[in-house]
Amino acid sequence: MIKRAKTFVNGIVQGVGFRPFIHKLITDYDIKGWVRNSSVGAEMELEGEEEDIRLFLHELKNNPPKLALITSIDVEYMTETAGYSDFKIIQSKTEKQTSTLVSPDVCICDECLAEMKMPGRRYRYPFINCTNCGPRFTIIKELPYDRAKTTMAPFKMCPECHREYTDINDRRYHAEPTGCNICGPKQFFCDCDGNELSGDPIELTKQYLRDGLIVAIKGLGGFHLAGRIDDPSIADTLRRRKHRDEKPFAIMCRDVETVKKLCMVSADEERILCSRQRPIVLLKKLRYDLLPSVSENGYIGVMLPYTPVHYMIFEDDIEALIMTSANISDLPIIYKNEEAINALSGIADGFLLSNRDIHMRCDDSVVYVYDSKVYPLRRSRGYSPYPILMKDALPALLACGAEQKASFCLSKGNFAIPSQHIGDLKNVETFENYKKSIAHFRGLYDIKPEKIACDLHPDFLSTAYADSLAKELDIPLIRVQHHHAHLASCMADNNLDEKVIGIIWDGTGYGTDGNIWGGEFLLGDFSGFERLAHLDYMKLPGGDLAVKDIRRMGISLLEKCGLDAEAVFKSPDTGLIREQLLKNINCPLSSGMGRLFDGISAILGIKEKADYEGQGAILLEAAATASERRLGYEISDSGAMILNMDKTIMSIYKEITEGSPDVGELCAAFLNTLVSAAADIAKRISDRYGIKKVVLSGGTFNNMYIMNRLPDRLESLGLTCYHHSRVSAGDEGLCLGQLMICSRS
Ligand code: ZN
Ligand code: ZN
Ligand code: FE
Repeated sequence: MIKRAKTFVNGIVQGVGFRPFIHKLITDYDIKGWVRNSSVGAEMELEGEEEDIRLFLHELKNNPPKLALITSIDVEYMTETAGYSDFKIIQSKTEKQTSTLVSPDVCICDECLAEMKMPGRRYRYPFINCTNCGPRFTIIKELPYDRAKTTMAPFKMCPECHREYTDINDRRYHAEPTGCNICGPKQFFCDCDGNELSGDPIELTKQYLRDGLIVAIKGLGGFHLAGRIDDPSIADTLRRRKHRDEKPFAIMCRDVETVKKLCMVSADEERILCSRQRPIVLLKKLRYDLLPSVSENGYIGVMLPYTPVHYMIFEDDIEALIMTSANISDLPIIYKNEEAINALSGIADGFLLSNRDIHMRCDDSVVYVYDSKVYPLRRSRGYSPYPILMKDALPALLACGAEQKASFCLSKGNFAIPSQHIGDLKNVETFENYKKSIAHFRGLYDIKPEKIACDLHPDFLSTAYADSLAKELDIPLIRVQHHHAHLASCMADNNLDEKVIGIIWDGTGYGTDGNIWGGEFLLGDFSGFERLAHLDYMKLPGGDLAVKDIRRMGISLLEKCGLDAEAVFKSPDTGLIREQLLKNINCPLSSGMGRLFDGISAILGIKEKADYEGQGAILLEAAATASERRLGYEISDSGAMILNMDKTIMSIYKEITEGSPDVGELCAAFLNTLVSAAADIAKRISDRYGIKKVVLSGGTFNNMYIMNRLPDRLESLGLTCYHHSRVSAGDEGLCLGQLMICSRS
């Protein structure tokens, strides 16, 4: 008997070639009716034998289109049939109520790449895409996902493109951003003053790059600054112009073979480098001294081409380029043509522009490959705004994240939707972009938060924003302790919902006692936490000053142990800083692991002034040699356990002051000691409370030396260790934890 079924498909089904896929798939079944994008995902009416409908939906559920994420299919049988004579894609309904999800931008597919090299309307077309590839998140203004609601709206399809768009057998059937050289967006090349040059824009770009010049290239989620890597003076010039003194640049290589000439690449790393997300993967250099002007440490951030434009730039002699986000200092990535020409004059020598607008900024993602999986440091292009599917439905919430590595997270149904990388809110422009992005996400997903979560820190701009928004919307504001949020974030990342031990190590987080925390051992879940152990408090002479001038931390640590700081730090103001410590003038207390790293790094003579966040720790990790040596630590165990590292500091001091120390070995010994101490304390907590699951979160766990040792050590003690793989261990991942804690309060 013929039945008519109203079917709702939820998940990421828009902008991923879902309707054309359905249209093709249905020809294998005797089903008539229609499919359309709707505000709730995709909607279908299926008319046919019940068995056919069942088999069709089974196939759809098990083999959905490559980029789709189907979370549920709801079927409602109707009492009357409609007598459809065929199966059609019909016009989207536009409603205000939207709940569908947006696909991230993905790299160009093989078919488009091949077509771009063939004679025809898309020969060297710089924006070639199809239903399986191309921009999504960065061009969508509103849902449902239709061309009219993207930045492709001004480009009217030519008859041939339109024919493909409406031809069921074409790979561009309903590919919203489709176009060709006749009807699509155009590229153009400008000199440093913004004057358009005649000639092929790609060839001009290549010529500029060959000549050792720096070109600003418009990409998917913003501009890159590109320059050759084989001449160190180009990197130096770029650093000088960008005011980026020491922070490493990412590079883009033509292919994996080229990457292998510079870095070690495991099979897993190769797989993730080539994945359609195309993140920047931090890879170990073949030799530590390779490309020092690009990266001062043992790793280089490498990505492969992901847009048609990148592929054309690398098509002949150019093999590798610096590809760094085009911004000035820590401001948001530049994404508009005029902004680029104004803000980057004096930085870029030329501009490869286009008249296709970027609606949402989205930086490149940065990951390590750890445990065969992505270990995100920055979750952005390619991943964002992919949702994280939670076990239970969540109320509509907004979590406002931290400050320096800001991000936010919204929830809707079973989804937590973390934002892309936003950056440091202390920059006015970044803060504006943060607010704009929150508004965009709220509008896009039509989320009306019932509660807002923020950090406990009273001075975070995200806290102030959350506070004013909660007042404006007249809804509760939940202030979440920083390290509790890290713990919850790692729990959510691993689908845990039970009491766990959290080793939460980072630089700075506001504690419930008013001190700065960051070397924490917590026991907790989404509902609450106890602080069972922490790194002994250290004085931060000068407060924030000690975070940049990390020599101050070195002096503080030595002073704490009663050692002569002037024997290590010869600068004339060492005495003044000692006095400041002695008199306790502006010396807030911190248990931040990052501060301990800073101090040790300074004492070992690795770094005295941090040019970027975490530099001391990063260089300390880079300097560590393979050694099993361990130094001393003590745990005072009355009430909350206190981890005291004085013995380690004293040993290091002794070797530094008594002749020629093996700095690499001391770095390793320091890290080994921390691994031992962490495992020791976690085991004690486990024995006492009968909890065996341990989560690792906080920026310190971006240290691969520790990550390659601590989990094994914990496992050997009978504990189960969980780490991040979907959001960052650093503060960028914090919002997910805030959201989960907020959902339970
Ligand atoms: Zn394609
Ligand atoms: Zn066309
Ligand atoms: Fe943190």
